[in-house]
Amino acid sequence: SRSDIHYFGAGPAPLPTAVLERASQALLNYNDKGIGLCEISHRSPEANQILTDAKVSLTNLLDIPDDYEILFLQAGGSGEFSAVVYHMVSVWVEKRRKRAEQETKSEGGSEQDLEAKVLERLRKEVKEELRLDYLVSGSWSLKASQEAARLIGPEHINVAFDARKANEGKFGRIPPESEWKLTPRKPGAALTYFCDNETVDGVEFPSFPQCLEADSEEDAPLVIADMSSNFISRKVDVKKYAAIFGGAQKNVGNAGVTIVIVRKSLLPPTSPLAASPLLRSLNLPVGPIVLDWPTIAKNNSLYNTLPIFDVWIAGQVMSGLMETYGDKRISGQQEVSDQKAKLLYGALDKDSQVYHVVPDKSVRSRMNICFRVHGGDSEKEKEFLAGAEKRGLTGLKGHRSVGGMRASNYNAVSLEGVEKLVRYLEDYAQGS
Ligand code: PMP
Repeated sequence: SRSDIHYFGAGPAPLPTAVLERASQALLNYNDKGIGLCEISHRSPEANQILTDAKVSLTNLLDIPDDYEILFLQAGGSGEFSAVVYHMVSVWVEKRRKRAEQETKSEGGSEQDLEAKVLERLRKEVKEELRLDYLVSGSWSLKASQEAARLIGPEHINVAFDARKANEGKFGRIPPESEWKLTPRKPGAALTYFCDNETVDGVEFPSFPQCLEADSEEDAPLVIADMSSNFISRKVDVKKYAAIFGGAQKNVGNAGVTIVIVRKSLLPPTSPLAASPLLRSLNLPVGPIVLDWPTIAKNNSLYNTLPIFDVWIAGQVMSGLMETYGDKRISGQQEVSDQKAKLLYGALDKDSQVYHVVPDKSVRSRMNICFRVHGGDSEKEKEFLAGAEKRGLTGLKGHRSVGGMRASNYNAVSLEGVEKLVRYLEDYAQGS
């Protein structure tokens, strides 16, 4: 039964049992309305309240400033790989268009002339200056950079580093900032993208990169972070980011909803319909309306049918954290996450003749603990997994692309579960 199992899957991942118990009731009969949460209208007052509550909890947990908007969308973390490109490229184009228009106007000439000149100038700027910076620290940032290259062409993508280089072709480290090849701040990149926690490779940024700190508001890099697998697990200074996004299915809820936190000043009032002819003239992609952040924001995340059940689950998980940690808010969760990760790495390091932690010590993820057993001997790893299952410790198999073991230490994984896994690690090592 559920109480016999400790599940360490990487996502979908465990959810608090109390939330699921309430969910089963809410699916049948929500707030005594005689219909359940998957049946009520996304435009009903109940649905609106659910959306508001979820936003309030997230705002309180992460201390999100007023000048940021929270969006709920579908299409997962992968959908946002595309959305960030569509959006930030159109922000870049709009900024350049304004500047080109102003400067060309001052030269005089007819209205038609002006339009042609602006277009010509923008074409040149796109070719020569449109750059998107990607920090490739693992499989998910690699995928995001590949999607960007697919959408706007590889010539516009600047891989500031690929962590596999100088590491035998494998992920597992983050090179020192002095080696990153970022686009110079002037004119700057349309976005600087990183994945805060690489779920497959077990690599987490220990903190916000120093070289992405803003010197001034004007030349601050437009930092986009994928926090799908470490969302609401530690303190985040939201102000440093243009946008943060994450699929819900690890720390926040079930698959089906993605959360975006975006700086309001980057949601231009220009309607996507008005902007699209210019983007097309510049051979730049026009994204689907359901991924268009300004449209989603303008419609309070209800442009189209939002899976309200998923938002409700996320809201319950987040308000649960608020109840558990009180005034400590996300710092309370951070302490517990750090403590659990420390226990696991401690056990793995102690028996280093049996276990090998894959990533470099300086970038070890607190969320996805990736390790090999007996140097990756496949029979031994199978034996390790079978032994774990016998003790009710499941979901420990690593991602198919890299193999090995991965213990995911998300918020809903209990300290008790981690302690059981630690005991198993010790016992297995002793019996080896
Ligand atoms: N980013 C990260 C860090 C992930 O771990 C994942 C999924 N495991 C994704 C993006 C892709 O998310 P989705 O499957 O929701 O598209």
